[in-house]
Amino acid sequence: MNDCLFCKIIKGEIPSSKVYEDEYVFAFNDIDPQAPTHILVIPKEHITSAAEIDESNSKVVSKIFEAIAKIAKENNFENGFRVVSNIGESAGQTVKHLHFHILSGRDMTWPPG
Ligand code: AMP
Ligand code: ZN
Repeated sequence: MNDCLFCKIIKGEIPSSKVYEDEYVFAFNDIDPQAPTHILVIPKEHITSAAEIDESNSKVVSKIFEAIAKIAKENNFENGFRVVSNIGESAGQTVKHLHFHILSGRDMTWPPG
């Protein structure tokens, strides 16, 4: 999808602060951090949201979570971290390319707002 912001970030057409990359996954710092650490983890394949995961593309989800665990170990999130994926308008999804937010470095509230 040529007009997808995150596809452009993966291709390097829009700059990002990369924290991790492998064959399936790209991760970079969120431009508007909501916690001292706020990283976005995305599949290189364009998938609109977690609602579009099926048997044909679910492998990237395990790769994303392998990457999340590596990033967490590397960053030594001593007091824990949160992983969030917003799906659709009412959940606050603004970029229509599957992404998981990693948030750490502050106390989190529950339920989220
Ligand atoms: P969501 O609202 O769940 O769709 O998350 C989209 C996230 O992308 C937001 O947290 C934005 O701050 C972030 N974002 C938007 N544009 C960029 C960009 N160019 N580089 C890094 N993060 C971005
Ligand atoms: Zn995309």
